[in-house]
Amino acid sequence: MNFLMLVNKDNALSKTYVPDNLVNADSKYRDNILVADMVYKNFKKMASDMNDLGYNIDIMSGYREYIYQEKLYNKSLNDKGFAYTFRSIAKPGCSEHQTGLAIDICVYKNEKCYVEHEIEDMEEDTWLRNNAYKYGFILRYPKGKEDITGYNYEPWHYRYVGKIAEEIYFNNVTLEEYLEKYCK
Ligand SMILES: [Zn+2]
Repeated sequence: MNFLMLVNKDNALSKTYVPDNLVNADSKYRDNILVADMVYKNFKKMASDMNDLGYNIDIMSGYREYIYQEKLYNKSLNDKGFAYTFRSIAKPGCSEHQTGLAIDICVYKNEKCYVEHEIEDMEEDTWLRNNAYKYGFILRYPKGKEDITGYNYEPWHYRYVGKIAEEIYFNNVTLEEYLEKYCK
């Protein structure tokens, strides 16, 4: 599997693309969340190391099939309109979640589950931002890079890229910039 595969507004997956290495993420947030096997392996390692620090995280969303993204997109268009949807919800085929390499992380604390923007600047969030690369993950939609990624800041959305994560982290670039600058 190509861990650097680029899926964004300009690079869509086909309707029939399904990764062949999906496994159950074993998440306590929800049953039957699937992710790529390498994501599972590395996320578990990261979550366990965080646990030693007293942090408790899990995966709240992993692989999403094309049809599901289509429903999500149409519902958002209906409920929130085009402007919001354009910055926040990927069109069907354009969601990284279809690769099985993207995860949305939630934080458990004080018997509550924190999701999406609620995790922003929590200790767990700060730790993730600075350490996730050690496990092959990058913060995929960082603050200040909205014009490059095409998405609003999403502190909860991480993408598995493997070893390259370290280079991406220390150069403070997005996957788009990395592929553009370093892989020509
Ligand atoms: Zn996500």
